[in-house]
Amino acid sequence: MTPGSVARSVAHDRRPDPAAPDAARRYVNQWVEAEAIGDERVSAFVLIMKTRGCYWADEKGCSMCGYAKDTLGRSATPEELAEQTSRALARYRGEPYVKVYTSGSFLDDREVDPESRRALVAAFSGRARRLLFETLPEFATADTLSPLRAAFAGELEAALGLETTDPTVLARYVHKNAPPSEYLAAADRVRALGLRAKAYLLLKPPYLTEQESIEDVVRSVEEASTRFDALSVNPVHIQNGTVVEWLYHRGRYRPPWLWSVVEVLQRGAERRGSARLVSFPTAGGLARGAHNCGECDARVLAAIEEASLSQKFDGLRDLDCECRTTWAHGRALEPLGVEA
Ligand code: SF4
Repeated sequence: MTPGSVARSVAHDRRPDPAAPDAARRYVNQWVEAEAIGDERVSAFVLIMKTRGCYWADEKGCSMCGYAKDTLGRSATPEELAEQTSRALARYRGEPYVKVYTSGSFLDDREVDPESRRALVAAFSGRARRLLFETLPEFATADTLSPLRAAFAGELEAALGLETTDPTVLARYVHKNAPPSEYLAAADRVRALGLRAKAYLLLKPPYLTEQESIEDVVRSVEEASTRFDALSVNPVHIQNGTVVEWLYHRGRYRPPWLWSVVEVLQRGAERRGSARLVSFPTAGGLARGAHNCGECDARVLAAIEEASLSQKFDGLRDLDCECRTTWAHGRALEPLGVEA
C-alpha cells in the first residue's frame, strides 16, 4: 500500500456525516491560555469553531492532522456561525489575545462566509488587542483580508501551517496541498496588508528520523525568519484518523522527544532574526505527544513554556536528565519505518 492510498483511506474513514442543526450551533471548544504580546504576559482566549472543515482533509489531508473529526460534514449556515460566536462571546472576559481556529481555514468561504468572518472580528474589535486566525495560503488575499483589517481596531495575525521550508518534506511526508513558496508568498501578502504573519513549523513528520527532523526545523526557522513575525514549533502529536496514527499502531512512529524541542529552540534562537520563536507542545509529556522518560517531562515542558513566553532561551541550557543520553544516542539510529 502506498502512503497516498493510506492517506486517502484514512481521510475517507474520518469524515463525519452531515451534522444536525443542534450540533452546528455549538463551537468545538474554548479555553484560556498563557501568551505574550511583545514583552508583556497576557491571557489568550482560544476558540475552536465548528465549520465544514478543511477541504484538503477531504481529498487527502496532511499526514498528522485529524481535525476533520471536529467538523460538520457540511457548511455551517450564517445563523449557526452567529450562534457559535454569541456563545463564545458570553464566555469572553476581555483577554487581550484572541485566537480563532476552524479545523481548517477561517478565510475559506465554504467554512466561514465573508459576512460571518467580518462580524466575528468586529465583535472583538476594541476589546482584544490582537486577533489570530489560521488559513491555507490560497485564501490569504486582499479580498479576504482587507475587510477584516477594516473591521478590527487592533492587530490581526494570520497563521499559516508552513510546517517546513523543504518542498520534498512538505509534499511527500507532510502531504500538504501547496509548496513552501506559496506559504512564503502568502506571508508577504499578509504583511503588505498590515497584518502579522505567523508560521507553524512541524517537528518530526513521519518518515524522518529524530535527527533529520531537528535539522529540518532549525533550517526552516532560519529560512522563514525574515518572512514571518512569529514561528511556532509544533511537535507532532498523534491524532485519531491520521497516517501518523496508522504508523504508530504498527510500531513505525514515535512522537518527538522533548529534548528535540529544546534543541530546536536553542539552535533556532540564534537563527530567528527578529521573529518570535515559541513552542507549546500539544499533549506534551503524554505517550501520544512529545515526551521524554516521564521523570523530567513536567520540568522540561515548564522550561520550554517559559522560554517561549519570555523569549529568553538560556534557561534551557541547564536542563538535564538521564534520558538525555538515551535520546542523544538513539536519535540518528532510529528505524525509519516504512518507505516514504
Ligand atoms: S493540517 Fe491544515 S491543511 Fe492539513 S489537513 Fe489539517 S487543516 Fe487541512
